[in-house]
Amino acid sequence: MFENLAAQPADALLGLIKLYNADPRGDKIDLGVGVYRTATGATPVFGAIKAAEAKLLETQDSKAYLGPDGDMGFVNALIPYVFGKDFDRSRVDGMQAPGGTGAVRLAIEVAKRAGAKRIWMGTPSWPNHAQIVSAVGLELKTFSHMTADGFADLDALKAALAKAEPGDAVLLHGCCHNPTGVDFTEAQWDEIAPLLVEKQVLPLIDLAYQGLGAGMEADAYGLRKVLSLAPEVLVAYSCDKNFGLYRDRVGAFYAVTSDAAALANAMGNGATIARASWSMPPDHGAAAVRLVLEDEGLTAQWLAELDDMRGRMRQVRDRLAAAQQVGPIAMAPLGVQNGLFSMLPLTGEQILALRNDHGIYMAGSGRINIAGLTSSNIEKFIDALQAVTG
Ligand code: PMP
Repeated sequence: MFENLAAQPADALLGLIKLYNADPRGDKIDLGVGVYRTATGATPVFGAIKAAEAKLLETQDSKAYLGPDGDMGFVNALIPYVFGKDFDRSRVDGMQAPGGTGAVRLAIEVAKRAGAKRIWMGTPSWPNHAQIVSAVGLELKTFSHMTADGFADLDALKAALAKAEPGDAVLLHGCCHNPTGVDFTEAQWDEIAPLLVEKQVLPLIDLAYQGLGAGMEADAYGLRKVLSLAPEVLVAYSCDKNFGLYRDRVGAFYAVTSDAAALANAMGNGATIARASWSMPPDHGAAAVRLVLEDEGLTAQWLAELDDMRGRMRQVRDRLAAAQQVGPIAMAPLGVQNGLFSMLPLTGEQILALRNDHGIYMAGSGRINIAGLTSSNIEKFIDALQAVTG
């Protein structure tokens, strides 16, 4: 039977890792895979997480099933960080999910069950968004996320919303847009939020990098602006970047409504979908996050570690922006973009030349992982960029 299956393309980024690993050059640079790296190229476990894991090992007395909601202590402990300390807790409920990916899947499936037939999304986006939308069976409507000069394209979003029907879903990145790094400004969110309400669309906010842009509070601005006006919102959250838990798959799905019965319905449907998909999420990483958030000292340690990450990425961005112009590429916007990624307007040949002639590996889209750059390789990177584009 399997010969009838359509062959699937290999994951391009995983292929890139293989090529990178096989490259013998000592000064090669990996800007491909989307994980944070320190100035020495490591992706270490957070100290706060290590401490929480030690505590977990000592105190956990059972690994019995928890249920499709996962660790609700974890889900609830995150609420003040995501929604704000003063958010009306009766409006929100959530459940743990296997990573931000699982949370996005739940959000899109719940939107479909609630009657959404179409979902609007700025492009380019994280490639898995379109794959999940397709797997769930919603119609994907796209608009441009970024202007040619590297800023958020509010006009394109407005034009899309003008065409949207009540009940359509609209998927927005809360912060640190993947792959462009281009976020809506606070003033733009102030315009977007009332428009979403006016058009009676269902906002679905994907917040996968809180704390990696401008800080935990600042990175939640857009989400909270939307929450302050919209009666119903779905949120897909990931702890995999801001707690460094990638492979432990830590995420949460939240629904916000203005009606208790509607909230129970949203969560009940989420739980049913989870049961039929993964039954219940992996426990370990979420339990570690809960232990961090339940302990003031560990919380402070985690936030300090997150500040260090953000500070390092800012330094890299400042250096890139200071290059001003590299060949035809205006570098200044990289300084105001946020998070792990930015996208350079490079051709396929230029990306190949960077790899073959300079040992610099990046996604075929021109997306670079800012954290792959360090004080010891950034000058080489800028020179190579000049060489291939000049
Ligand atoms: N949303 C976006 C925008 C992402 O970039 C990612 C991760 N690359 C995710 C969700 C999913 O993250 P996770 O690894 O937690 O599944």
